[in-house]
Amino acid sequence: MEAPTSTTAENRDCFKRTTAIDSNTGIMDERVLLLVFTQLNFDPHVLSVAARVSRRLRAVVSRVLWRHACISRAPRLVSALTAGFPSGANRVCGGWHALAKLLFYCAGCEPSSRFPLPHRVPGHFVGVSRFSKTSGRSFLSRQFWGDLLYVSDPCEHAVEGRPNGEDLGAYRGVFCSFVRSLTRAFLVRRRVDLEMRIRCPYCGTRVWNMTAARLVPRSASRRLGAHHGRLEYFVCVNGHLYGNCWLEHLSSSEEVEEEEEEEEEEEYESGSM
Ligand SMILES: [Zn+2]
Ligand SMILES: [Zn+2]
Repeated sequence: MEAPTSTTAENRDCFKRTTAIDSNTGIMDERVLLLVFTQLNFDPHVLSVAARVSRRLRAVVSRVLWRHACISRAPRLVSALTAGFPSGANRVCGGWHALAKLLFYCAGCEPSSRFPLPHRVPGHFVGVSRFSKTSGRSFLSRQFWGDLLYVSDPCEHAVEGRPNGEDLGAYRGVFCSFVRSLTRAFLVRRRVDLEMRIRCPYCGTRVWNMTAARLVPRSASRRLGAHHGRLEYFVCVNGHLYGNCWLEHLSSSEEVEEEEEEEEEEEYESGSM
């Protein structure tokens, strides 16, 4: 995860002084570190800085602190993600660092034929993101509704010169038990190729282009507020989902229609639980 530049140097110096005696005692005791970062509400900026300070700190951050950061910010999501692991709540597909990055970090957008931008839209930390399985279901074709997928609301990026002032949307999500999912089974059975040059921004593994695989249902664009065919998303081999879309400015009548559709979805969701 990229760290901010402003206070990074100061924080790093401070950590370096503290870790001059690089041992497992005092502030470097795992339990003490956990207490300290609990007080900091697992600030992802500070955790990112800490992970760069020393090998010892990096190990504690990646093994312990990212996991607690995820649990503290998204307890229900973590509970759903870890439910499938026989070893219990200590493992998550792709690792805790990748999940933390997914929770706290918008990946921005790389220019492509579908998104012909003058330059890359950089990723950035996000304050609060809402991940919803109702939204996730909108990204699944009906044949895959047995899968459990959480997807965030789109992060909106203004892009100069777009017609009608449309914004670029960036969204992300994660499958529960992706290795046993219907979606993955279909991709493998149909031998859908993994992208050659694109890697998951969260865990660095290879990805499937769901748009190219024709697995994007119309409900995904409705959910996002984008025209059908004007979105693209990828799923990596660890089950992280990320993508972009062009967000339309809807008229008030269209907005009412959208709300009614979403209410029906919510009712269906609660009725099927
Ligand atoms: Zn963003
Ligand atoms: Zn990934």
